[in-house]
Amino acid sequence: MTQDNKGIALVTGASSGIGAVYADRLAKRGYDLILVARDIARLEALANRLHSATGSQVEVIGADLTDPASIDALAARIEGEARLTLLVNNAGVALSDTLTEAPASEVARLITLNIAAPALLARAAIRAFKTRGTGRVINISSVLALAPEILEGVYSGSKAFLLNLTQGLNHELAGTDIHVQAVLPGATRTEIWERSGKDVDSFPADWVMGVDDLVDAALTGFDRGEAVTIPPLQDTADWNIMQDARLRLAGQLSRSEVAPRYRSIAEA
Ligand code: NAP
Repeated sequence: MTQDNKGIALVTGASSGIGAVYADRLAKRGYDLILVARDIARLEALANRLHSATGSQVEVIGADLTDPASIDALAARIEGEARLTLLVNNAGVALSDTLTEAPASEVARLITLNIAAPALLARAAIRAFKTRGTGRVINISSVLALAPEILEGVYSGSKAFLLNLTQGLNHELAGTDIHVQAVLPGATRTEIWERSGKDVDSFPADWVMGVDDLVDAALTGFDRGEAVTIPPLQDTADWNIMQDARLRLAGQLSRSEVAPRYRSIAEA
């Protein structure tokens, strides 16, 4: 059964894991969909299932978002899609090793897929949303944005980029009906682990969230208008303490005067 149509949601990385569950939930909420990934056969199977189950119109686009020309083409489609109301920047990969041990080409691809693509797609979506005065972007970041020590710095840094991007955009867009949500999953049971050569079952069982629970929680945060949603974080007071400390620090970070501890001994 289709609910009232909510326009089009475009989900990148919709062929598996978190993106495929977003596609399912958004179709059930009454969105038509544009699903993007490299594996067209998987996207088409999902599109057929969702269309049969919900009546939503589902288009699939095969695109490798490590290719700058593909990013540009998708950005142009997003900016020109008059019915787009929601962009879910979800496609992403983890690194198979540390910065120094992983192949350089893999590091470069991660940076393009996890950073350049979501930034340029968000740019396109928000430019279109500004002409209509409304729209939503969801950026799938990670708890590693807050804890680079847990894995490695490149993937964590790419996810910190999405958190900063979200917070910066929301600041710029304050007072409008255009909102951006960063979702910070902890370890979630998807193919990303196997794809990056890791065994999710080697983690303590109580670390790993099911993908349905993760997306349903993230959408609850979306419905509440949260800018940052961290499904595994039990007590939001811990996040609020960090945010308050960060914002207090922000007021002290630019001064003409060098801090006393950096003045030379002769000067002191
Ligand atoms: P996943 O099952 O491996 O899904 C990744 C998706 O990205 C797939 O649909 C994949 O489709 C797509 N993708 C990969 N490379 C691509 C490329 N070059 N061009 C276009 N699409 C590409 O993993 P997932 O866990 O659901 O990951 C989704 C997002 O969640 C990622 O941004 C990830 O960083 C984030 N995240 C995951 C976890 C976790 O523990 N699972 C935790 C925090 C954050 P194709 O292979 O068909 O292209």
